[in-house]
Amino acid sequence: MRDLYITNSLSRTKELFTPLNPGHVGLYVCGPTVYGDAHLGHARPAITYDVLVRLLRQIGYKVRYVRNITDVGHLEHDADEGEDKIAKKARLEQLEPMEVVQEYTERYHEAMRELNVAPPSIEPRASGHIIEQIRLVKTILEAGYAYESNGSIYFDVEKYNKDHHYGVLSGRNLEDTVEGTRSLDGQSDKKAPFDFALWKKASPEHIMHWPSPWSEGFPGWHLECSAMSEKYLGAEFDIHGGGMDLMFPHHECEIAQNVASRGKEGVRYWMHNNMITINGKKMGKSLGNFITLSDLFSGNNSVLSQAYSPMTIRFFILQAHYRSTLDFSNEALQAASKGLAKVLGAARDLKAMAAGKQAGVASEKVQELYDKAYDALCDDLNTPIALGYIFEAVKLINSAKAGSLKLQDADLALLERMFSEILFGVLGLKDEGASDGKSAEVISGLMDMILEERQEAKANKDWTKSDKIRNSLTSLGITVKDTKDGVEWSL
Ligand code: ZN
Repeated sequence: MRDLYITNSLSRTKELFTPLNPGHVGLYVCGPTVYGDAHLGHARPAITYDVLVRLLRQIGYKVRYVRNITDVGHLEHDADEGEDKIAKKARLEQLEPMEVVQEYTERYHEAMRELNVAPPSIEPRASGHIIEQIRLVKTILEAGYAYESNGSIYFDVEKYNKDHHYGVLSGRNLEDTVEGTRSLDGQSDKKAPFDFALWKKASPEHIMHWPSPWSEGFPGWHLECSAMSEKYLGAEFDIHGGGMDLMFPHHECEIAQNVASRGKEGVRYWMHNNMITINGKKMGKSLGNFITLSDLFSGNNSVLSQAYSPMTIRFFILQAHYRSTLDFSNEALQAASKGLAKVLGAARDLKAMAAGKQAGVASEKVQELYDKAYDALCDDLNTPIALGYIFEAVKLINSAKAGSLKLQDADLALLERMFSEILFGVLGLKDEGASDGKSAEVISGLMDMILEERQEAKANKDWTKSDKIRNSLTSLGITVKDTKDGVEWSL
C-alpha cells in the first residue's frame, strides 16, 4: 500500500497516515444544514473529501465514510442562539420542518450527483439520533462538565479548561476566546459567554422539540457530530473532515464533548478545507454574490456571464490545493472549462490509440509521470500538482497524435491506466460530452441572444416583437422577469 501523508490540523504538520485498524479507515465529515439550495461553498468540502475517499479506496483501504445531515438544532446566531435555521425556513414557506429537510436534502443529493461526488457509506440525520444525543448529555453532566440552567444544559467550558485545554485544535486559549465572544445580554441562561448549549429548552413558538429529563427541547448543534461519529465509527476513529470555518467553535466543541464523555479526543487526524471567495470577497447572501450550484449549472445569476458544467466546477476546485483559498471568477471558470476540454480531448484520443495495446515496461518518461501524479495525490491530496503531470501526459498524447512522437504499446497502456485511475478514478472527473452540462452552456448562450433581441425590440418600442418573444418563451416554460439589475429568466 502506498504511503499517504495528510496535514493534521491538530499538530499543524504533515503526517504519515496510519489507520487504527490496518486496511480500514473511518472517516467523518460534517455535512450540510439543509435549509436552502446547495451552493458553491458546499461543492468544495464535498469534492475534497470525495477525492480523499477515492484515493484511500484506490490505494487499497476499505473506507466507512459518514457524512451527516443537520436537520435540527443549528440556530442562527453563534450556532446556539436565535431561531432554528430549518424552522425559520419552514415558517417563511409555511411548510412542515421535515418538508424543508426532505426538499433540500434531495436538492443537495442531486447537486452532488451532478458533481460526480460519490454518496457516503452512512448519511445520518441529527433528528434521527435524539436518543443518542440525550444519552451523551447525561454522560457529560455526570462527568461534571455541564450544568442545567432553566431547563437547558450548557457545557461548562471554564471547568473543562481547568482539566484539559479548550482550544487544542484552533490553537487558542480561553482568554482569546472570551475576547471573540459576544457578551451576555442578561437574557441568557449561560454562566459564561463561551459556554455552549448541549440541550436547549424549546420556547413556546419553537416547533421542533422532543422530551428529555430536563425539558421539552432540542439538542445543541455541536452535539450531533460527537454522538453520530461515536455511534458509527467508535470512540476513536481515523479522520474527521470539514471546512475551515467549522474548526472553531464547532470542532473545538466536538473535541471537548468527546473528552468530557469518553475520556479521549476521539479523532486521530483532523482535516480542513479552505474557503471559496467570489472575486476576492467572502460569499454571502447579504453581499449579493451568493451562487447556488443550480445557478452555476444553468448560468442564471447576475454574477455569472454563462453556465458552467458540473465537471468544469469540479476541475476548477481541483486546480487549487484544498488548504489554499480559491477565488471564483468568470475568467477562472472559463479557463478551467478550456483546460478540462483539453484533457478530455486527449483522453478520447488516447482511448482510440491505446485500444488493444499490451501493458509491459513503459518508457521512463511515462512511468515517471504516472508515479509523480500518484505521489502528488498521496502528498496531502496535491491535486494541482497531479493535474500538472496529467497535462504533461496530454502533451505526449498530442505529439503522438501529430506523429512527432512514437509511443510504445506499453506507454499507451500505462497512460490509459494513469487516466482511468487518476483522472477519472481519484480526481473523479468524467467526460460529459454533449450531455447535460454542455447543453446547459448552449441554452445559456441562446438565452443571452434571445433576451438581447428582446431588449433591442423594447428600445425601439417594437412592442409586437418584444411581446412575441416573451410569449414564445412562456409557451416553452421559460419565465422572464425584468429586475433593476437586468433581465432574469428561469425554466
Ligand atoms: Zn459537525
